[in-house]
Amino acid sequence: MKVIKKIDEMRRAVSGIKSRGMSIGFVPTMGYLHEGHLSLVRESIRKAGVTVVSIFVNPAQFGPREDFKEYPRDLNRDSEVLEREGVDYLFVPEAGEMYPQGYKTYVEVHDLQDKLCGRSRPGHFRGVCTVVLKLFNIVNPDISFFGQKDAQQAAVIKKMVADLNMNLQIVTVPTVREPDGLAMSSRNTYLNSEERKQATVLYQALNLSQKLWAQGEKDAKIIRQQMTDLIQKQPLANIDYISIADAVTLEELDVVKPPALVSMAVRIGETRLIDNVVVGQRAN
Ligand code: AMP
Repeated sequence: MKVIKKIDEMRRAVSGIKSRGMSIGFVPTMGYLHEGHLSLVRESIRKAGVTVVSIFVNPAQFGPREDFKEYPRDLNRDSEVLEREGVDYLFVPEAGEMYPQGYKTYVEVHDLQDKLCGRSRPGHFRGVCTVVLKLFNIVNPDISFFGQKDAQQAAVIKKMVADLNMNLQIVTVPTVREPDGLAMSSRNTYLNSEERKQATVLYQALNLSQKLWAQGEKDAKIIRQQMTDLIQKQPLANIDYISIADAVTLEELDVVKPPALVSMAVRIGETRLIDNVVVGQRAN
């Protein structure tokens, strides 16, 4: 696996790959890799000729009071793991080269960026879209992989790619979970042991929504209320939002019909966790 830090060098590598007629699969990440990331990587290796993974903790997607500084980082471990998986290129750009002094250009996907997580994280998806578009312009992938875990992110990126006529395919990969159902996340390392126990309530609430829907409950308000009641039983849990929305437009639904995205952000102690499921599918 070749580790590349400079944008120019990445571009040269990409030209070489393209001139050999090989397809590029791309997995953008912020590192501190876990099995969730690796399922995207494995999908890319299956589907593309060459796999490029990027690790970049993107300052533009963190709010001023968010965890940019504390975000866990371990580049040595990450590169060992990716090497073992058979990744071809690891791209680790520097913030100073991605956003040099005088940087002025940002990408926004209106409406979609303001819902769900966008409400409590203003500017977050603007930062995500901007960095993803920049990375796409550098890596020039034929296909790029995103986790269902960050469903709004995947929806926003798909919309950006469609609206800007970008010539690549976006694939969403199912959420990878711990044995007790907690969605894997680099931020799970923030949880102490009591918080870690209570964090399983997100998955339990999603399962409850699935069960209620399967039993014939179609009223979004009732389903949301029951999920709220369940989550509030955990003393360390603080609900940011619970949403039942159209999976593509992210418009809230009164009557639940597939494909409906049931999603939530819940603080467990200080740690904000997100999770979701598409109704009518198993909570994977
Ligand atoms: P991050 O490093 O958190 O920016 O995540 C990089 C990519 O991995 C994003 O497309 C995420 O949606 C995806 N991802 C993160 N956690 C999981 C998970 N538990 N299962 C599947 N994909 C995930």
